[in-house]
Amino acid sequence: MTLRLYDTMAREKRVFKPQDPSRVTMYVCGPTVYNYAHIGNARPPVVFDVLRRLLGHIYGEDAVIYARNITDVEDKIIASSLESGEAIADITRKYADIYNADMASLNVRAPDIEPWATKHIQGMIRIGESLKRKGYAYVTKDGLYFQVDQMDDYGKLSGRKQEDNEAGARVAVDEGKRNPSDFAIWKFAKEGEPEEAIWDSPWGRGRPGWHIECSAMIKAELGDTIDIHGGGIDLTFPHHENEIAQSECAHGETLANYWLHNGFLDMEGEKMSKSLGNVKLVHDLAKDWPGEVLRYALLSGHYRAPLDWTRSLLEQSKTSLDRIYGALRRVWGDGNVEPDDRHGVRAKLMDDLNTPLALAELHALASEANKAADEKNERAMETVRNMLVDAGSALGILSMTPAQWEQGGDDDDSARIDAMVQARVEARANKDWAEADRIRNELAAEGIEIMDGGGGSTWRRV
Ligand code: AMP
Ligand code: ZN
Repeated sequence: MTLRLYDTMAREKRVFKPQDPSRVTMYVCGPTVYNYAHIGNARPPVVFDVLRRLLGHIYGEDAVIYARNITDVEDKIIASSLESGEAIADITRKYADIYNADMASLNVRAPDIEPWATKHIQGMIRIGESLKRKGYAYVTKDGLYFQVDQMDDYGKLSGRKQEDNEAGARVAVDEGKRNPSDFAIWKFAKEGEPEEAIWDSPWGRGRPGWHIECSAMIKAELGDTIDIHGGGIDLTFPHHENEIAQSECAHGETLANYWLHNGFLDMEGEKMSKSLGNVKLVHDLAKDWPGEVLRYALLSGHYRAPLDWTRSLLEQSKTSLDRIYGALRRVWGDGNVEPDDRHGVRAKLMDDLNTPLALAELHALASEANKAADEKNERAMETVRNMLVDAGSALGILSMTPAQWEQGGDDDDSARIDAMVQARVEARANKDWAEADRIRNELAAEGIEIMDGGGGSTWRRV
């Protein structure tokens, strides 16, 4: 089986060939940490987590090095600190932790490396110096700028060379900038900005521009040329174009051999935006829906296509997972899972991460599980169980036991309910029927049904 990936640079699907199969490198632009992530922000980490899992399966878990950065110095973080009076380090630590917890709730595995921009300032300065020495960068009164017309193939990723202008309006050339598209590698500190966001540099005190952060972190953590660079489609221009410009002009090497971009997530047919008031945070959604439902919904469309986020998408995703977990329950047996990869899910992912077809394969496996259970074919049941769990892990779902799924997956809550069920078992043993009924009714009011059976009492959410 060969892995084929759509490369934004080549504008076609290409067979994936790493530079070194024993060291496969991937970098994805991570969050700027000053607020909660919305569900659109979760699409890149989930999509590239599926790719990380697939690469691990093909090349070996230890052969893959996946870096996703934290942008902890940026204009919006500084603005947030100035407004709230909170230290930048406190803001960024808090929101990085929230981000990672939110992503974990979507079964996104932690990247192998999580570089923080402020730990790489010297590397950014070194790239700036190299660019200046080679004639790609110049100093203005505002900072160090990259001169785009010095690079012959600037714009090769996006096919664009400058920001689209407002209808017909001419972009005012900033004082000192040689070309409106020239961008800041280093920004000089302005009056009143927090010391925390100011570093010395050969050109003057200040802070890095956003694009140089990724260029420096990629070089330091993964090398001059990486196999895969990913992010949302909006990052193609100018962010990735400018990462390419800086890295390739400074090092004389190709920055990334494959460029992957996910499409945007819309909200009920509209662009998600603060002004429309339709921004949905992962943090809030996770209160109402199991993380696997959110993840299933994110993977229900092909990663490059736009995805319309609707209530009905969530409901369908929940129903689908209920069906698959229901089938898994029937073949669960002793629960001694030994993952078995003889199923068709990864073959679909090998074709440019076709998650909709991969999920269809998962449903076909669920049908096989039901058939094996109907026929009481124990051998087939065990095999299909092992394949279902392995197929689920390729997608980052089916991470719970069927019982945990039915019980809602919330460990703290489950422990509390388990304790109540146990108290009722004891009440019954003591023939305290009134107490036993009281507990049953209390749980029923929460939508929890107790099932008494030969082996004791279990429960499920109804
Ligand atoms: P930002 O916080 O805007 O820098 O976005 C962080 C990441 O989320 C980037 O990779 C963006 O491309 C991605 N992203 C932002 N909004 C959406 C959206 N509505 N749909 C999909 N990806 C998005
Ligand atoms: Zn980046």
